[in-house]
Amino acid sequence: MEIIHLSAECYPVAKVGGLGDVVGALPKYQCQAGHYAKVVMPAHSTKFMYENDWQNDYESDIYMGGKHWHYIVLKEKTQKLGFDLYCILIDGLTNRTKVYDHDDTERYLAFQIAALDWMSQWQHAPDVLHCHDHHTALVPFMIQHCRQFRNLSRVKTVFTIHNGQYQGWFSWNNVHNLPAFMDWSAGLLDWGDMINPMSSAVRCADAVTTVSWSYMYELMESAVGLESLFRHEAHKCYGVLNGIDTQVWNPATDKYLAHHYSTADVEAGKAKHKQEVCEIFGLNPTNPLIVFIGRLVGEKGADLLPHAIGRALYETQGRVNYLVLGSGADSVENELSTLKMFSQGVYNCFIGYNEGLSHRLYAAADYILMPSRVEPCGLNQMYALRYGTIPMVRSTGGLKDTVIDYGDSGGYGIRFNQASIEDIVMSTHRALNLYHQVDTFQAIRKHIMEIDNSWESSQNRYMDIYKSL
Ligand code: ADP
Repeated sequence: MEIIHLSAECYPVAKVGGLGDVVGALPKYQCQAGHYAKVVMPAHSTKFMYENDWQNDYESDIYMGGKHWHYIVLKEKTQKLGFDLYCILIDGLTNRTKVYDHDDTERYLAFQIAALDWMSQWQHAPDVLHCHDHHTALVPFMIQHCRQFRNLSRVKTVFTIHNGQYQGWFSWNNVHNLPAFMDWSAGLLDWGDMINPMSSAVRCADAVTTVSWSYMYELMESAVGLESLFRHEAHKCYGVLNGIDTQVWNPATDKYLAHHYSTADVEAGKAKHKQEVCEIFGLNPTNPLIVFIGRLVGEKGADLLPHAIGRALYETQGRVNYLVLGSGADSVENELSTLKMFSQGVYNCFIGYNEGLSHRLYAAADYILMPSRVEPCGLNQMYALRYGTIPMVRSTGGLKDTVIDYGDSGGYGIRFNQASIEDIVMSTHRALNLYHQVDTFQAIRKHIMEIDNSWESSQNRYMDIYKSL
């Protein structure tokens, strides 16, 4: 099968969150399984673009918003990522260091139009266009209802929702930016008197997937206004749990780790990392180390962290360490930085994005905390499991589908029901307690490293869906 993934992010070219990880890994595993998967994304001005060799594959112009835009399709020359990678350069729109910016409606519309303009010149059509999130969500509508792309109208489309909170809404005043479409199809763009790309993809795509089953059910209950649409289209909606790229995320080979380890020497391996991290951040290595890694936003429950950590440290009398790596809302960043003054020796934070440090923290930590309000899949808990780090998670979305509480049969994690200070504090007490049941704690560590959350199994689910179309 020939599958084209259209996405705003793809690790290591450009990554803001889990979307980048997924699009950087899934096509590679699809190619390894004998299919022909490619990625088409905007040419952001990232380090990867400058450090690699590109060939000019195609160039032309598109017309958008009363203006001609020149675009160039750049192909990475060496198949470095394990699949063909194409980046579309539109001068003034894509060539920025920021993946997301204030004028994303225009930027991503131009990207989608240019991608389809290029593909509609091909002698053959791919089997599937796999669109990821709202930045590529107008593709299913455009190939079916814009005459300009009628060559592609029979290509099957799959739309994957990595985050249903962001739907890409824009006003009908900007409809002139879209290529001409059949008048009668305008209703397929509309939701609540706005153009809503996500709602249009849910209606127009041949299949809609989200990145866990639980999240799909949650969207049918609460989806920023689209819940009734998800219920209506339920017959073509599927949950496919993300996998992790075990070639990147493997403590035995991880390029960011100075000490490698596997299940055989997990205790010694993690102890070295913990010692180093505790030294760098001035923490107490005899305490359990609980980390939070992620965007400091409400969805992730990050606003709860300053008070919850403060109270957990107080109630446990400083017998746990907390370390936060993240960036996001200014207020949360400031509160987390201020907390350092009151909790020296048992708390620290690194405000910013640091890929290498995140790998070292997965290796060093005893626990990872994820008090998410919304978590479509969540990759952190899966990376943590692979690195022998026990997840403490709120029971929601993909966290519910991948973590079983250690109090339940076959369990290995800590789950709590509410995204609240009380539940985080309570789970900290449970984490401390478990840490001192040394045999159980060590047995859990070994067990979780062997849980299979790899793409090898998840990619088959996508293949089944493509084939069913
Ligand atoms: P989301 O896509 O909603 O942000 P996911 O759990 O799906 O959440 O993916 C988050 C990814 O981003 C993980 O690979 C995580 O390690 C990484 N990440 C998030 N914040 C940071 C940060 N500040 N530094 C390094 N990596 C980060």
